[in-house]
Amino acid sequence: MQKNAIKEIVIVGGGTAGWMTAAALGKILGTDLYTITLVESEQIGTVGVGEATIPMIMLYNSVLGINEDEFVRETNATFKLGIEFADWRRLGHSYFHPFGKLGVDMDGIGFVHYWLRWAKQGGSLGYASFNAETQAAREQKFMRTPEGAGALPNINYAFQFDAARYAAYLRRFAEKRGVRRIEGKVVRAEQDDAGDIGSIVMEDGRRVSGDLFVDCSGFRGLLIEEVFATGYDDWSHWLPVNRAVAVPCEKNAPPLPYTRATAREAGWQWRIPLQHRTGNGYVFCTEFTSEDEATEKLMSRLDGAPLADPRILRFVTGVRRKTWVRNCVAIGLSSGFLEPLESTSIHLIQVAIAKLLAMFPRDRIDRSMVARYNDEMRFEYDNVRDFLIAHYYVTERNDTPFWRYVSSMAIPDALQEKLELFSQRGEVMAKHNDLFKETSWFAVLAGQGLMPESYHPVADVISDDELRLRLSRIRTGITERVAQMPKHEAFIEQHCAAA
Ligand code: FAD
Repeated sequence: MQKNAIKEIVIVGGGTAGWMTAAALGKILGTDLYTITLVESEQIGTVGVGEATIPMIMLYNSVLGINEDEFVRETNATFKLGIEFADWRRLGHSYFHPFGKLGVDMDGIGFVHYWLRWAKQGGSLGYASFNAETQAAREQKFMRTPEGAGALPNINYAFQFDAARYAAYLRRFAEKRGVRRIEGKVVRAEQDDAGDIGSIVMEDGRRVSGDLFVDCSGFRGLLIEEVFATGYDDWSHWLPVNRAVAVPCEKNAPPLPYTRATAREAGWQWRIPLQHRTGNGYVFCTEFTSEDEATEKLMSRLDGAPLADPRILRFVTGVRRKTWVRNCVAIGLSSGFLEPLESTSIHLIQVAIAKLLAMFPRDRIDRSMVARYNDEMRFEYDNVRDFLIAHYYVTERNDTPFWRYVSSMAIPDALQEKLELFSQRGEVMAKHNDLFKETSWFAVLAGQGLMPESYHPVADVISDDELRLRLSRIRTGITERVAQMPKHEAFIEQHCAAA
């Protein structure tokens, strides 16, 4: 076996990012060749409100070998088929951003081009009728794709879970695999002559030394910012929300198999159903409303009786300029925050872990690898950022100063190009490594009111009869699939209800 000088890994922080990292490193690297230590402070606590995910979490779960029913049960999770956006385009309007595809791609082009041709000829069914997840969500149904599903469409989904239970679940997973946990507050880091972190020092004087430090300390960036002063690219001019007020509520109805995001005067309100309660929160911008006013609005629009006092969270949307510096990698909120509109933070944690593992150093930390990591993570953030901005910018709303600002702000060039392409031909030419693909862009841009003028020329090649036949087959497949599905609550009850 070859010599390996990077053996002691120290993770600072035990929120979602810290325990996701600890569980993945514990599983992949193990603790025969490595020591993995996680330091967390109960006194400082975690953000712990992030409860909704996207389907990519399946990859993380499968790498860990997690049993899905057990995971859902232990985290009080529900299944999520997408996000309903209410009042975003205009008051009283709503649309669904589903996981999974619209229709079926044909002849090398997306289904939406065929739908656009059909709609221009007077076809009456909306594009959402050609998406199984949207139809199931409408009927509050859920089922995983059965084995040997045949020609019927797959069901794509993610989870909505209790963040505190998720961290506890991963902690058990990681500790079983030899990850050591230290409770206490880190007060500073000690650097060697070269500038690498050699150890962190705890409030009680203990030192924890390491070869590689993963900063999962949350917004503050205890190591990445306070030691390395990497700087932060502030994206508030594009994503101006900078506060959230959150309150857990009693469950007052069967849990919906989706998250709801309702646009409000100065931001938007989330509703995330779990098995035992419903998460509610208002994400807002203090340029346009105060913390007190936002709290009052949220408390007057709750779904279910509150179970705790409202809690304010403060943040600045943006990204750390570098998320890997010397022997320190920042994962989670310490690396940036884009706001929770499309539930992408946990995904970005997962991507960072995957890239860290793919580029894991052997006997020294290679500068070019670090540069590559930073470039790739930056791409991920830029890419998600533009998709989020589109939700605010493409709207008919101008009823409050907040909506007047976001609908007329200057937007990034890359997004401008996407919007122009989309208007002309119904596609944004998403790259293969873009997180959000054509279906997502179509669902959101069309949902927000931007309907393309034209579509891909290949969609004109088939006859009118053939077009009608294909669309009708797809629609029948979806109707049959959804007819087979039980109610979401019944599915949970049968397979994975929390004790
Ligand atoms: P934190 O949860 O802040 O954890 C930091 C950890 O570091 C804690 O354990 C703390 O004790 C420790 N720590 C800090 N300082 C010290 C110290 N000096 N010594 C020792 N330990 C220390 N994400 C999603 O994917 N979906 C969502 O729906 C979603 N909704 C969100 C809603 C809001 C309003 C916000 C603010 C975030 C949301 N997120 C969401 C993001 C998600 O909550 C975070 O990405 C996730 O929880 C990871 O946080 P973290 O572990 O990086 O930081």
